[in-house]
Amino acid sequence: MEFWAWFMHKYVQHGPLWVLHRSHHVRPSPRPFERNDWFFVIYGILSAVLFMTGENGARWWFWVGVGIAAYGTVYFFVHDGLIHGRLPFWKKTDSVYLRALNMAHKMHHKTQGRDHSEEFGLLWVSPKYLRLARQQAARKAQSAPAQA
Ligand SMILES: [Zn+2]
Ligand SMILES: [Zn+2]
Repeated sequence: MEFWAWFMHKYVQHGPLWVLHRSHHVRPSPRPFERNDWFFVIYGILSAVLFMTGENGARWWFWVGVGIAAYGTVYFFVHDGLIHGRLPFWKKTDSVYLRALNMAHKMHHKTQGRDHSEEFGLLWVSPKYLRLARQQAARKAQSAPAQA
C-alpha cells in the first residue's frame, strides 16, 4: 500500500490529477476543506465498492478494500491530523519516526509546483530524516534541564 500511495502521489497526483492535488501545495489554504480532499472521497467510494462486491472476504478484492480503508485512515491521521495540524490534539510528539515523517513531508511541500518535488512517500521516510530527527531529539534532551 505504501508503494501504491507513493506511486499514485508521484505519477497521478503530480501528473494528470494535479488539478485536484494542487490545492494541497499552494499555501495558505484558507478553507477547511481543500480540493485535495476529493482523494478521500474517491478512495472511500472505491473501497466501499470493493467491500460490497467482495462477499465478506470470499473474493480477493474484498481485502484490497480493507487495505485501502486501513491505509486511508492512517494516512488521514498522520498526514492531515499530525503533519498539517488538522487534529489539534495531536500537535506535539516525541517520536523520532513521526518527527522524521513530518520533516520529510515538509520537504515535499517546499515546492509549490507540480514538478521537482521530493519525498512522495508517506509512511516510508528516507534515513537522512530519521538521522536529523534523532539529532534534534538529542539536542532537545541536552538543553531541557537548562530551560527548566
Ligand atoms: Zn504532493
Ligand atoms: Zn501534505
